Amino acid sequence: AELFEPERVNSKGWDLRHRPTLEEIDAARGAFERHRWQAGPITAEDAPAGAEEVVPNPARPRDEVGTITWATPETVAAAARAARPWDADPAERSAVLNRIADLYEENYGELFAILHREAGKSLLDAVAEIREAVDFLRYYGARTEGDPAVGVFACISPWNFPLAIFTGQIAAALAAGNAVLSKPAEQTPLIAHRAVQLMHEAGVPRTALQLVPGAGEVGAALTSTPEVGGVAFTGSTETAQIIHRSMAENLDPGAPLIAETGGLNAMIVDSTALPEQAVAAIVESAFQSAGQRCSALRCLYVQEDIAESFTEMLTGAMDAMRIGRPWDVSTDVGPVIDAEAKADIDAYIAEADGEGRVLKTCDTPDAGHFVAPTLIRVTGIGELEREVFGPVLHLATFKADGIDRAIDAINAKGYGLTFGLQTRIDDRVQHVSDRIRVGNVYVNRNQIGAIVGSQPFGGEGLSGTGPKAGGPDYVERFRAHPADHAAG
Ligand code: GLU
Repeated sequence: AELFEPERVNSKGWDLRHRPTLEEIDAARGAFERHRWQAGPITAEDAPAGAEEVVPNPARPRDEVGTITWATPETVAAAARAARPWDADPAERSAVLNRIADLYEENYGELFAILHREAGKSLLDAVAEIREAVDFLRYYGARTEGDPAVGVFACISPWNFPLAIFTGQIAAALAAGNAVLSKPAEQTPLIAHRAVQLMHEAGVPRTALQLVPGAGEVGAALTSTPEVGGVAFTGSTETAQIIHRSMAENLDPGAPLIAETGGLNAMIVDSTALPEQAVAAIVESAFQSAGQRCSALRCLYVQEDIAESFTEMLTGAMDAMRIGRPWDVSTDVGPVIDAEAKADIDAYIAEADGEGRVLKTCDTPDAGHFVAPTLIRVTGIGELEREVFGPVLHLATFKADGIDRAIDAINAKGYGLTFGLQTRIDDRVQHVSDRIRVGNVYVNRNQIGAIVGSQPFGGEGLSGTGPKAGGPDYVERFRAHPADHAAG
C-alpha cells in the first residue's frame, strides 16, 4: 500500500509555546485537579466483577486519582459470550471512529488530567499522547473497507501509552469490524475506562467493545478463551512469549498475534556530527517520558576522538533538565509509573554506582516515584543484560574504524526497534542504514515519537511481529484472509 497520502492531515495538537493555549489547557485540566474517577469493567451484559482498589498518583503519593473495580476471569467469560463483531457497514464504522477522535479532542482537559495524575505524563507527553490517539482513529478509520473481520479480538495494552496504544489497537480491530475485549495495563485503568465511555458515546455498540481491566489472570483468561480469534499486544518481550504459548495451547491455530515488544535501542554519533543537535536528540530520546518508551535510546556510541568534549556537553544538558510534577509546563521529566518500577531502576543505578560507572546523575524531588536521569559508562551494548525501562542511558565509545563492529554488536542483541545516527557523511547514512537491523532508523534527529501515517512504527526480532502501527498494513492483520486459511 502507498505510504504517501497528500490529502491526509494529522491532528494539530496544542502548541505549548503559545501562552493563551497554555492558559486554556490549565483551565481545562484544572477543572479535574481533584476529581476522583470511578472505573470498572464495561460489559455488554451483566457480568461478575472482582475487588476494588484505589488508583494512586505516581508523582504525589497521597493523591487518590480514583477507584477501579477489577474484572476477573469470570468477567472475561461473560464478556466473550456477549461479544458480537461490529457488522455496521464500513462507511458507518469510519464515521464512528472519526467521531471518537473528535470527542477525544473536545474532552482534552479531562484526558490531560488523567494522563498527568494516573500515568505521570508530562504536558508535552500528554499532548503527544492525545494527538497520536486521534491520529490512529482517523488513520485506521480511513481503512474500514476490506476482507471480513477475524471475529473477536483481545487487545492488551501497556501503561506507557495508556491512551494512544490502547486506542490504536482498538481502533484497528474495530476498523476491520471485529468485536474487541480490551484489557488496559493495571497501572492505568482510569484513562482506558474514560476512553471506552467516549467510544460508546460516539456509537460503538457495547457488544463490539467491552473493557476488562485487570492483571495477569485477566490477560491469561483472554488469551485462552475459545471465542477469541486474535490478540494484539504491546508490552514486554517476556509477556509476549507467554501469550504466544497460551494462544498455541488454547486458541485456533490460525489466530493472529500482533505483538509490539521491547527494545535495546542505540545511537551512533560520529566525529562529523553537529554536537548541539546530537545532544538535544539524545536528551529527548533517552529521558523524555522518563525513558519509559520502548523506542527510547538506551546505549549511545560516541566516536572516541570527540568523546571527552561531547560527554561534557551532554552532562551539561542533563544538568539543565527539570525533573518534577508532570502538570508543570517547565517539567522535562516526570515520575516513573510506580514504586516497583522506581525500586528496580534505582537498584540498577546503585549497582552501576558501586562499580564506579556512573558518569552523571540528576537531582529529583523527594516525594513521588521519581528516578534520577543517569548516564552510565559501558564498553559496549553487549554489557546491557536487559531493557531497563527508565531514564538510564549507557555510554560507549568506538574508534574511527570501528563503526561496523558497533553495529554488529547492536544487531547481536537480537532486538530491532529504533536506531539513531548522527553524522554529516552522506555515504555513511546509506551504509549504516543497510547494515543495522531495526524497524525505525532516525538520522540527525531524535529517535522517539513516531508519527502516524508518516513514520509507521514497529520492530523486528525480539522487538515484535510487525506489521507497523500507524502504517498502511496494520489494519490488514485484524482481518481474516481466506487465502491464509487455505494455505493452512
Ligand atoms: N511509538 C512510540 C515512539 O515512537 C513508542 C511506543 C512504545 O513505547 O511502545 O516513541
